[in-house]
Amino acid sequence: MKVLVYGGGQLARMMYLAGCPLGIHVRAVDVNKDQVINPISKAPSTVSLQEAIDDADVVTAEFEHVPEHLLKLADESGKLKPSIAAIRTGADRVKEKGLLSELGIATSEYQVMRNVSELPDIVQKLNTPLVLKASRDGYDGYGQWRLKQPDDIAALAQTLSKLDLQNVPIIVEKMINFSREVSLVGVRSEKGEFAFYPLVENHHHEGQLHLTLAPAPEVSEALQAQAQEIFVKLAEKLNYIGVLAVEFFQVGEQLLVNEIAPRVHNSGHWTMQGADTCQFENHLRAVCGLPLGSTEVRSATAMVNIIGCGSFSRDMLAIPGCHIHWYGKSARAKRKLGHFNISAKNNQDLAARLLDLAKHLPQESFPLLEAEAQKLQKY
Ligand code: ATP
Ligand code: MG
Repeated sequence: MKVLVYGGGQLARMMYLAGCPLGIHVRAVDVNKDQVINPISKAPSTVSLQEAIDDADVVTAEFEHVPEHLLKLADESGKLKPSIAAIRTGADRVKEKGLLSELGIATSEYQVMRNVSELPDIVQKLNTPLVLKASRDGYDGYGQWRLKQPDDIAALAQTLSKLDLQNVPIIVEKMINFSREVSLVGVRSEKGEFAFYPLVENHHHEGQLHLTLAPAPEVSEALQAQAQEIFVKLAEKLNYIGVLAVEFFQVGEQLLVNEIAPRVHNSGHWTMQGADTCQFENHLRAVCGLPLGSTEVRSATAMVNIIGCGSFSRDMLAIPGCHIHWYGKSARAKRKLGHFNISAKNNQDLAARLLDLAKHLPQESFPLLEAEAQKLQKY
């Protein structure tokens, strides 16, 4: 089978690699240039975009911020999975919040701001501290602002005055004092069957994911069930096909949805070593109409993002259970260049291996690693 992926980054690359043993051929599209590329070398293809769509069995996306004309082109071919509605919902926080409200799914309290002059009223309604998010094109914490106290309204309004809020409104939401962040990655087939990975625990630094612990420690059956119930509601409403990720804030034993990602997700990379079938293979299986693969956990696994820095020795590969996945990108500050997956038979052993890994890596690029590994020793 042939799959065309909108987006030519690491997610398309990992889909390509997962497709090889299945005999599924993956091509990617650079959506800024409307150009078909090889997902590994990034070399442009001689095939035009329309030819590649005609030739593909399925068109899918590695990220949600795909230009509208490309989404329409794929939709018209009847080959787009997940659907155009699902991708548009993930790409637009106004639509996303609207869907959550419609389905009665808990999320942070919010207001939509279409003019900066509304800011004082909104602050009065919601109270500080607040997080403001551009409704489109944000990722890794870009397109976000914080408002700690009402005194800072004027300065923030000044910053926001340069933006076109009529076109791209801002979601103003209450800052949640969460106990932790978790996410659920799951997959729905064409026939409507579901498979779920366990909830995982995510650690962010400066708005970017740095570390995922899988499965998340101390998850009750009720919490996992709560997450799955929310996932099913969303996926069924969207008639979703493929891998979907739902990010949550956990407050006590309640989950609030932060956002959804209609695609394979960074917090699912651990599945490449830690689960029977990885998220990339399961996405391909789902969109190609194949039976879903088992999501059973093989071992406790941590995923450590390599962000901004690739200049360290490779000696950590001697640590048992340690794997590295490079994305073939050049180094730049804040850029995700690759990740480690490190597995062990239980969390104590995993913590020890993570502490060992931390010794091999520059602290400034992996600021959470050692402290989180120490906390994991408790479990
Ligand atoms: P990513 O692409 O990494 O998922 P993003 O840019 O889409 O990020 P969010 O997931 O909405 O943005 O926010 C990034 C991080 O900022 C969250 O994971 C969380 O740590 C923090 N954050 C966002 N919204 C809130 C909130 N309402 N309360 C507290 N923290 C928040
Ligand atoms: Mg997020």
